[in-house]
Amino acid sequence: NKLVIPRAEHSISRSLLSPNGVKVLYKLRDHGYTAYLVGGGVRDLLLGREPKDFDVATDATPTQLKKLFRNCRLIGRRFRLAHLHFQDEIIEVATFRAGADGSAAEAPDAVENELPERSVVPEAPSDATLDPALDDLGTRHGRDGRHLLSGPRMLKSEDGMVLRDNIFGTPEEDAVRRDFTVNALFYNIVDFSIIDHVGGIEDLKHGLIRTIGDPLVRFTEDPVRMIRAVRFAAMLGFNIESQTEAAMCELCGTINKATPPRLYEEVLKLLMMGAGERTYQMLRHYGLFEPLFPHFDAWLSRESDCYPHVRVGKALDWIDERIGAGGTVSAPLLIALMFGEYLEEKVSGFRAEGFPPQQATDAALAEFAGELSATVVIPNRVLIAVREILSCQLRFQKTPGRNARGVVGRHVFPDALAYLCFLEQLNPPKRSLADWWQRFAEEQAAPEAAAATSPS
Ligand code: ATP
Ligand code: MG
Repeated sequence: NKLVIPRAEHSISRSLLSPNGVKVLYKLRDHGYTAYLVGGGVRDLLLGREPKDFDVATDATPTQLKKLFRNCRLIGRRFRLAHLHFQDEIIEVATFRAGADGSAAEAPDAVENELPERSVVPEAPSDATLDPALDDLGTRHGRDGRHLLSGPRMLKSEDGMVLRDNIFGTPEEDAVRRDFTVNALFYNIVDFSIIDHVGGIEDLKHGLIRTIGDPLVRFTEDPVRMIRAVRFAAMLGFNIESQTEAAMCELCGTINKATPPRLYEEVLKLLMMGAGERTYQMLRHYGLFEPLFPHFDAWLSRESDCYPHVRVGKALDWIDERIGAGGTVSAPLLIALMFGEYLEEKVSGFRAEGFPPQQATDAALAEFAGELSATVVIPNRVLIAVREILSCQLRFQKTPGRNARGVVGRHVFPDALAYLCFLEQLNPPKRSLADWWQRFAEEQAAPEAAAATSPS
């Protein structure tokens, strides 16, 4: 049931694509390979949105890609992808793969690099015996170099753990292994048509997020897809199709089967796309928030001093506004804002036990990290920056105080100041400390210009 939508019947024109993306597609075609623009890029272009990135899928193997493109770097241990580096853009090129077990399928490589102390993806044991006919990706090749799709689909260790599941496949298999129908459309550079193997075009028209295949199976394969469903629904303003939705309600408690570092990455992406407030409500609605942040969720449903905790929502609104205005929010700032009231309450608790301010902040963050370690692992360097953001708030009370220059010179200063701005927006003070520090920082950066405009 392959549907081909000719150029005349859809809105994607070559001029909307990144020129580098077009170059890559043409070069692959000219060398006899099949190459499609895939995934979020096609979806976003069809919706008239600007795509975040351009991903290409092809029947060229990573080794062949490496030969063809000088700017090519192969990345990933488990799934080897080609990154083609251009001046200010990276085009990701992946070889068509057949769906195997999708669990941890898309685990970003960056997570592995960031947390060397935890192995996210099990490494293949060195004694794993690989069929000599398999190439670097475990694909069986015939003598003419073409893939033979009849080989073993998946290589498993004795205890059934999937060692290599990126077995090459046909374009159709590659479409079917993807998560949602709207994410599985191909744009074909040969005739500018859209190829739809999964009914994605219909769902796009109706604004529906629907898993490809049985949602219970697909969410069991990879629970992170439930978070992704929320992300796309919130980002595109789509509805989640009813069977997909029912499966989410049934399986929300299994979200923690995904590894904590990967959940951290996905949750971060989710909250940083400028619809954080809506996303947060949807996560709660689908029962995904509680298993991700159990202690924080329990605290949210309690009151402090007879007041409900409304600051999270306001913080997320503030973040959305900032992103909507073209700004950015770093991971530490996002975490500090989202969990700020909760963390401040913990700090007060330790203060009441007699801890000095700095130690109380450290203890609060250590406790917070401990609570989350089983569900969403926040990398250490991010936690350290969150601590700095919170500690700076105390320092900001003194203007200028000792070594104020040192304060504005700190790496964390812009985030700490943003945090203060948010607090002042919640409770406007008579005299804004944020304004004072902002001005002071500007004076430090450009003393002459500041002196020319300021009367003192
Ligand atoms: P965005 O615009 O936010 O980047 P995207 O659709 O491009 O959205 P990515 O996370 O970049 O999302 O993934 C690219 C594509 O890879 C998806 O469109 C989807 O087809 C496929 N994919 C990603 N994650 C999964 C997953 N967990 N399971 C199956 N397919 C996935
Ligand atoms: Mg993408």
